[in-house]
Amino acid sequence: MTKRRKRYRTEVVPKLEVFTSGIAIQSKPVVLVPASVLGVCDAVQAKVGGNEFSILLKGGWTGDGFVVSPGHYVIPKQSVGYASVDFDNADVARLTSEGYNCVLHSHPAGMKSFSSTDEESINVNFDASVLYCDGDLCDARVCIRVAPKLKLRLDADVKLGYDAPTEIDGMGNIEVKKDVVVTPYQRYYGGVCGYSYGGVDYESYDDFLYDCYLEDRGMKSRCYTDDYIDADEVQRR
Ligand SMILES: [Zn+2]
Repeated sequence: MTKRRKRYRTEVVPKLEVFTSGIAIQSKPVVLVPASVLGVCDAVQAKVGGNEFSILLKGGWTGDGFVVSPGHYVIPKQSVGYASVDFDNADVARLTSEGYNCVLHSHPAGMKSFSSTDEESINVNFDASVLYCDGDLCDARVCIRVAPKLKLRLDADVKLGYDAPTEIDGMGNIEVKKDVVVTPYQRYYGGVCGYSYGGVDYESYDDFLYDCYLEDRGMKSRCYTDDYIDADEVQRR
């Protein structure tokens, strides 16, 4: 007679890592662009006037989204018009092989969305595409290859990141007339923040600036109470 053995089965329960590992979830991808890129765009836009232009950037996916790296921008060879940018294809091919995987282009004033041509051309040929219009970054797309024959082109939020400002020539040409030291202070009751300057406590920084405005014009404000006294009234006193 054969003995029947009890058999134990070990069940493998997969760990639900997403609940514990701090993985970020974005239902809409984010493209983070360093603030210095906006300065570059402003300068290039000033050169090309009302025409479009394009620059290429480098970026990659991190836990924050598609992050454009600061300091890596290039202006590819291009001929620009009011409604189009024509690249030198060989130049762009060389730059993309060097890792420039993000394209930024500008639109004329008020045209804050991608054109249908944009959607079918540059927006599917770079990992990320950003639109600049009226001095601002206003739209973005990311393009992700999920299968050899399939790319997802997704609407993305574009956000300005912080980075070290680029060095500005000619700062030595500015002479500051007086050193103004404004010390924020904390009121002992109610936790209201204010500013202290020259022995006077101001409710807000705006009040302090208003006083500076009066002082520059040889006037003196005494409105350290809630009463508002306008510049003319102070002058009459
Ligand atoms: Zn466009």
